[in-house]
Amino acid sequence: MSEHETSEHDSNEANYSAITTILNSLDALVYVADIDTHELLFFNDYGQTQWGAPEGRRCWEVLQKGQQNPCEFCTNPKLVNEHGEPSGVYVWEFQNTHNGSWYQCRDQLIKWPDGRLVRIEIATDITERKLMEQELHEAKVLAEKAADTDVLTGLNNRRSFFKRGNEIISDSNLRHHPISVIMFDLDYFKQINDDFGHDAGDEVLIDISHAAVKALRQDDIFARLGGEEFAVLLPNTNHLQAIELAELIRKALDENITIYNNEKISCTASFGVSSKLDLSKTSLKELISEADKKLYRAKNNGRNTVIG
Ligand code: GH3
Ligand code: MG
Ligand code: MG
Repeated sequence: MSEHETSEHDSNEANYSAITTILNSLDALVYVADIDTHELLFFNDYGQTQWGAPEGRRCWEVLQKGQQNPCEFCTNPKLVNEHGEPSGVYVWEFQNTHNGSWYQCRDQLIKWPDGRLVRIEIATDITERKLMEQELHEAKVLAEKAADTDVLTGLNNRRSFFKRGNEIISDSNLRHHPISVIMFDLDYFKQINDDFGHDAGDEVLIDISHAAVKALRQDDIFARLGGEEFAVLLPNTNHLQAIELAELIRKALDENITIYNNEKISCTASFGVSSKLDLSKTSLKELISEADKKLYRAKNNGRNTVIG
């Protein structure tokens, strides 16, 4: 080696050592692997601490658990364009199969000093962010459920009834299915509160809800619209079927007895039923309003009855 070559060699060594020191000080995985053989050409200290020394092994042997072949999710194909040239940076998120931590991976093809194309990945631990996202998502689901649920009975509330009801109406319109609505209001409920107290009234509301649910089918949308007023949306149900179902609920409530402080409390309800075949010309509000009018006719007809 000439004097000139020796000093160039020394300066290359110094550069390599400086870059390695930088890469080893990162709080992220940095590795380089041959894109054809998957052999690990560089594995920084972070990687070695997490996954052990590479010892001439391939990336999929070191980084993933129980992997017998290159990973099916390997991003190498995404890093080259149709001319076999580097296509830029590809960023993705992945839960490591060894340590269960989540990483944001930044993959790219670069030219290795010997001229071949190699894959470099910089993977940053994002587990904390992922956990926070998961907690936020769970909190959102719970909040949405709470916003849609009637606290006393656990049934859908008015908001949820309209939201789900309007979705079902659009769907039924597309499928040309008939739809029906049952409205019912408890009879002389104020008297129950007056006779037995408000808490007893609450128990009756809960009991009545359970009794009605038993009479309903899985796809029916049952809601407490407010106070002692309830509604059921019956997908793909014609008027006759809806009247039959309303009659079943009426009977179930009539037979229900709530026991509160050793007192037996009975409560009936009055029902109105509306149905539509052509949903293009109607809305949930209209169906409810029609059922409501019939419900008040049921009240005037002596209560504990169904008007269809
Ligand atoms: P009608 O047969 O004409 O419907 O008579 P009603 O007494 O049921 O009707 P009214 O509208 O006069 O009274 C409804 C009562 O429902 C009054 C109200 O205090 C009671 N109520 C509304 N919400 C609740 C509740 O959450 N819990 C209890 N315990 N009572 C409630
Ligand atoms: Mg009432
Ligand atoms: Mg009422």
